[in-house]
Amino acid sequence: MPTKTLEARLVNPTTNKHQKIRETQTAYRRALDDAFQQGCETQSATNDVVVQYDLSGYAKNALKKYVPQLTGDSYDADELSDEHPVRFTDEGFDIDHKPQNAYEWYLKVPHHEDYDLWFPAGINPEQRPLVEALYAGDAEPGEFRLVERDDNWYLHATVHFDVADTVCSESDDVTPVGVDIGEAALATVCHRNECDSPTAPRLWNDEAKTVRELREQYFTAMRRLQRRGADVLTDTYGDEIWRQIDDILHTVSREVVDHVVGIDGGVVVLEDLTYIREDMDYGAYMNRRLHGWAFAKLHSQIMYKAEGRGIDVVTVNPRNTSKECHACKEVGSRRHQATFSCTNDDCWVSEYQADINGALNIADRYPAGERQPQSDRDSGQKVVGDDSGGDGASLTGPQDSQADAENQQTTLGTYAS
Ligand SMILES: [Zn+2]
Repeated sequence: MPTKTLEARLVNPTTNKHQKIRETQTAYRRALDDAFQQGCETQSATNDVVVQYDLSGYAKNALKKYVPQLTGDSYDADELSDEHPVRFTDEGFDIDHKPQNAYEWYLKVPHHEDYDLWFPAGINPEQRPLVEALYAGDAEPGEFRLVERDDNWYLHATVHFDVADTVCSESDDVTPVGVDIGEAALATVCHRNECDSPTAPRLWNDEAKTVRELREQYFTAMRRLQRRGADVLTDTYGDEIWRQIDDILHTVSREVVDHVVGIDGGVVVLEDLTYIREDMDYGAYMNRRLHGWAFAKLHSQIMYKAEGRGIDVVTVNPRNTSKECHACKEVGSRRHQATFSCTNDDCWVSEYQADINGALNIADRYPAGERQPQSDRDSGQKVVGDDSGGDGASLTGPQDSQADAENQQTTLGTYAS
């Protein structure tokens, strides 16, 4: 079972929340130091010491596992330095999703017994598959740690993935399968056969239509309800629509991966999201956000589901993938959304289905002669920028995360679109 680490920054804690986290950190370190000094070598001995501290059960249980390891081995006391993260057992992990907000993910930090803090989470886009998998229940959280670094707070969570038996093809030949994510079709897949001819294209058109309808329904209802100031109703109704969209995305991502699994040596080739953000055109704010959301979600789901089936995933530069001709690679035109036209007189292509053309271009960018599974590309990651002006977050239990959400809603997060 492969394990990865999710790193999330807790966005803009208020002074009050900041203080609460500090309390947890202080109590945890005292408890740890106390139990260590008393040489607790068993869980029950540790329990007798840590029970008197005002900590959540998740932190106490983590200490009960941790302290006996320290006292048991020849242990370097330097490890009890100030940098010690606060550990929590996996049962304390929780994640919430509010796609309509600038920071769409929320993470729980256990504070005292039955008293939790919720924070909007700044998550690196490359780590989105981990979050999506956790939220969908396709990955299991492990122990997680609260870390303080450069005046910021972070949660580092271990994420366990179940991986099916790796799909092994007879030969080492790789078949890059281009996966184009878009508006007209949620996904389009196509690859080339042994003779380099485009083969087995598949488009998810109907699902895109349903998502567009749900989206429209959502905005219409939102406008109507907000005029009446029915915030709670708006939220409940919105959640239901998001859930329906999410279900569609899960179905499509599963079918895309199934399709690739069925291709001998199939490798998923996706566009690199970090480029796409720069290329996105500017439409209405919410529309852009929503499209970006569905886009990023589908992208992440395909990524982790493919890895879960033992299928490699490669991301490539998306520049002009929709504008180039898959046959001659010259930039053509796209007079209609659905049709690509090659303007090169020497090329046999005159018109071609635009999404399939795009998927083929994506497949063709698979780096020849090398394999770069996405899972190995974890260097140079940047943590989400601190660009939120909202600082209205208050100390809340999980049921109040909406209050935070609304305060964040007016600000456009870096990865909102
Ligand atoms: Zn051409």
